[in-house]
Amino acid sequence: MTQTLHIVGGGMAGSEAAWQAAQAGIQVVIHEMRPKVKTFAHHTEKLGEMVCSNSFRSDDDEQNAVGLLHWEMRAADSLVMASADRNRLPAGGALAVDREGFSEHITQILRNHPNILISNEEITDLPSEGQWIFATGPLTSDALGAAIRAETGTDRLAFFDAIAPIVYADSIDMSVAWEQSRYDKGETEAERRAYLNCPMTRDQYEAFIDALLAAEKTEFHEGETATYFDGCLPIEVMAERGRETLRHGPMKPIGLTNAHDPETKPYAVVQLRRDNALGTLYNIVGFQTKMKYGAQTAVFKTIPGLENASFARLGGIHRNTFLNSPTLLDAQMRLRSRPNIRFAGQVTGVEGYVESAAMGLIAGRMAAAELQGLPLPTVPQDSAHGALIHHISGGAEAKTFQPMNVNFGLFRPLDGVRGGRRGRRDRYKAYTDRAKAAWQGWLGQQGLDGHAAE
Ligand SMILES: Cc1cc2nc3c(=O)[nH]c(=O)nc-3n(C[C@H](O)[C@H](O)[C@H](O)COP(=O)(O)OP(=O)(O)OC[C@H]3O[C@@H](n4cnc5c(N)ncnc54)[C@H](O)[C@@H]3O)c2cc1C
Repeated sequence: MTQTLHIVGGGMAGSEAAWQAAQAGIQVVIHEMRPKVKTFAHHTEKLGEMVCSNSFRSDDDEQNAVGLLHWEMRAADSLVMASADRNRLPAGGALAVDREGFSEHITQILRNHPNILISNEEITDLPSEGQWIFATGPLTSDALGAAIRAETGTDRLAFFDAIAPIVYADSIDMSVAWEQSRYDKGETEAERRAYLNCPMTRDQYEAFIDALLAAEKTEFHEGETATYFDGCLPIEVMAERGRETLRHGPMKPIGLTNAHDPETKPYAVVQLRRDNALGTLYNIVGFQTKMKYGAQTAVFKTIPGLENASFARLGGIHRNTFLNSPTLLDAQMRLRSRPNIRFAGQVTGVEGYVESAAMGLIAGRMAAAELQGLPLPTVPQDSAHGALIHHISGGAEAKTFQPMNVNFGLFRPLDGVRGGRRGRRDRYKAYTDRAKAAWQGWLGQQGLDGHAAE
């Protein structure tokens, strides 16, 4: 007889993890605190509740990374995807979902599954015995958050994200930007050239401040408190404090010489820092923001060198509990200090319904395989699931780690495929073809035929 798998949280990740493990023959208990303990964003007692928009984003599995994730999940018999497909609403190329039908279906399937028990209780500590998956999401309860912090250290579990926009490296105009760390600091040549710098004249800086002040901003959700700590003030709040504040903060021009025009001192400089080991993504340093997405794109494209920038993700600040996964989790999504505990979903530092469910799918399979003593083959890095796992368990920069959507910047570059804007369609098709082949190979190694959830 195998042990029971305990899953804490019946949201996107926990529901998918429970389904995957139960289908593999494992006895599962889902511990879900609602309705006894509530969050400010959930309004029902259902499992798999969509807390805000009703969209799973693009369903294009050839040209879009989240569409590819849909494809991989469907092939792996995902309950979340089957429920989304069953409750699909017309929305062009996007996968929009009837939220009530969606969560009702998930609740019924899991409630009626012979291998699953649902227990409505809050879990407030990290058990030292048994096999556990914690999928408690961005609104992990306070008591559990405190227990996780006690285990990981206070600096390894954040309660807010502070996301600076992330740009695809190949969309930055290097005839304008140049590589240099401030004061050429660093032991190695790579460290001395670690940042990309975009110079601004006085006029450009003044116009940028005007645009920041005028831009439309997002309000905090009810229940979120706008307690910025000074280390992560939104740039527009810095600009409101004084027109020169940014020039003395993240946009200070000192210690930098424009390699394209060494004689002219820039009035201000926007710096970008490498965001992943692959070097395909850069974040704009200190540019966390509450500007609306449309406004961000318009304002950031006025920065010299970023006129044609493509954004892997835009900035934001939200109530969001998440681990510093690159330092805390191993490649099996286990807590290094307590390997009987896995984490899954948004709390691992992925972002979004689909990404969270995908991490639940993998965690459920990993836990089931471990309990059955059958090692799960390594999730291929070239798949969308593998790219996300690789990112959270080591590929991302641990010091600046912030939640991430799936995007092609997380994928290993392809040899022999044209770069830049022009080659984009071919490049994305090549990424998705490579991913699908890798994913099918991985499913095949597990002897799975990929039949769909009912
Ligand atoms: C306000 C808000 C708006 C969002 N809007 C969107 C959006 O529009 N689109 C999008 O893609 N993503 C959105 N997200 C992110 C979204 O929450 C996640 O993408 C997704 O729901 C995360 O899935 P999850 O399974 O990790 O967490 P959840 O779906 O939140 O599930 C976690 C579950 O754990 C339970 N739980 C928490 N602590 C405990 C405990 N101690 N014991 C037992 N149970 C516990 C919770 O009740 C919850 O049911 C939003 C997040 C927030 C907070």
